[in-house]
Amino acid sequence: MQHLGTRPVTVATTTFGGGRFQVIAGPCSVETEAQFTETARQVHRSGATLLRGGIYKLRTDPKSFQGLGLEALSFVARTAREVGLPLVTEVTDPRQIEALHAHVDLFQVGTRNMHNYDLLKELGRTRKPVLIKRGLAALVDEWLLAARYVTDGGNTNVILCERGIRSFEKITRNTLDLAAVAYAKQHSEFPVIVDPSHATGVRDLVGPMALAAIAAGADGLLIETHPDPAHALSDGPQALTFADFDLLMGRIREVCAFFGKPMATGAQS
Ligand code: PEP
Ligand code: MN
Repeated sequence: MQHLGTRPVTVATTTFGGGRFQVIAGPCSVETEAQFTETARQVHRSGATLLRGGIYKLRTDPKSFQGLGLEALSFVARTAREVGLPLVTEVTDPRQIEALHAHVDLFQVGTRNMHNYDLLKELGRTRKPVLIKRGLAALVDEWLLAARYVTDGGNTNVILCERGIRSFEKITRNTLDLAAVAYAKQHSEFPVIVDPSHATGVRDLVGPMALAAIAAGADGLLIETHPDPAHALSDGPQALTFADFDLLMGRIREVCAFFGKPMATGAQS
């Protein structure tokens, strides 16, 4: 079969889909400056190549923590600069783009917004890279078409992220669809990464699925970490401790080496 081949996407100082493996890591939500700074330093030390942290959180329960919003942006951006990692954060509304644009290196579109075509079109008018998570009940073809909403605006800097889909299974939060990763690599030009944190919702399953994602051909991973997962304001059960993240990074490096896909070094040195 003729594969399209992946068109690399550069995010600040590093590149997705160019043969080097990327690991985006950080907390689900930015909670305090201390929590974010500590997490940033630790994931950087362990070899993460990009830093994440949500300031706008789309939560199922409106009474759940909704994120710190713009008040966190300046310390979030400063922390990313200080550790020297590109910054990834979720944009949940087109009206946020302007304020985030100068500080964010990769805009994340969350699973709940994959069908928000006005948001995708607006991101297509920028030239900033966009990470599109698969909708939790989206067909692969719908996911690929969501990417077209961005590229049709002239912004070809799109990266796809498989984060699990809703199924009848309840032992995991979602069902990780690794066939979709291999398929998207074969049938689209976009780099594809995997988020084993939301895909499983279970800390002990994050590592095995991260390693499986490498074998499936993913160009990178997105992994949630927290200094104190038991007290995290969102997604604690799937958050890795720093020690677990550090161990997993060692395994990731080994498996990447086996598949001839060296880890990106990015700005970590
Ligand atoms: C997240 O990355 O924190 C997140 C909310 O992810 P998703 O949109 O995949 O649920
Ligand atoms: Mn999360």
